[in-house]
Amino acid sequence: MTQKDRYAKVIQWFSANMPNPKTELEYRNEYELLVAVILSAQCTDKRVNAITPAFFEQYPTPQVLAASNEESIYQVIKSCSYPNNKAKNLHNMAIKLVEKFNGVVPSDMALLQELPGVGRKTANVIISVAFGIPAMAVDTHVFRVSARIGLTQNSKTPEDTEKQLVAGFPSEILHHAHHWLILHGRYVCKARKPLCNECGLTECCDFYQHNIIAP
Ligand code: SF4
Repeated sequence: MTQKDRYAKVIQWFSANMPNPKTELEYRNEYELLVAVILSAQCTDKRVNAITPAFFEQYPTPQVLAASNEESIYQVIKSCSYPNNKAKNLHNMAIKLVEKFNGVVPSDMALLQELPGVGRKTANVIISVAFGIPAMAVDTHVFRVSARIGLTQNSKTPEDTEKQLVAGFPSEILHHAHHWLILHGRYVCKARKPLCNECGLTECCDFYQHNIIAP
């Protein structure tokens, strides 16, 4: 199967079976999405969604968050992973957001990455989900699933995976493809034991073709 055919099959299957995928993080504006994505690093969306209602009640704007302190932020987010580090990043992020961007989340990759706690993956999520700009954020699910299916070849880094997926998917599909691969990795193509029996991509999946039916 050529790469072109593989991408076409994947797009066809997901378009039919997951036509309108969305992030599972709950948010109401760009600031809330940014906070939720920072909290979601190494943490489940479910856990983040359990934390954010109280967080946004206490810190409804970047200005309020900036005027707070790490200890009080820690108390609100302590049930998520790496709370010390995230409390520090969230506080510093809010200070910079207010001081440099007047409290408005920028829609530019480079500017976003100036914010503490915001790396390339987070910035890609923000520009894609909040601003509708074509981008591919590569997390552990996207990295693993795209390699198993064969959408990427010999990728060693998230940046390489991002590059290959951006080249393979049409730009107008990218925002969907990001969620397709995350959700597929979360619920079907799981890290330890992919549920190939429940997967509709066996026909075009490199891993399945080489390791399951012809090991
Ligand atoms: S066939 Fe198996 S390995 Fe391939 S995408 Fe589906 S679940 Fe993952």
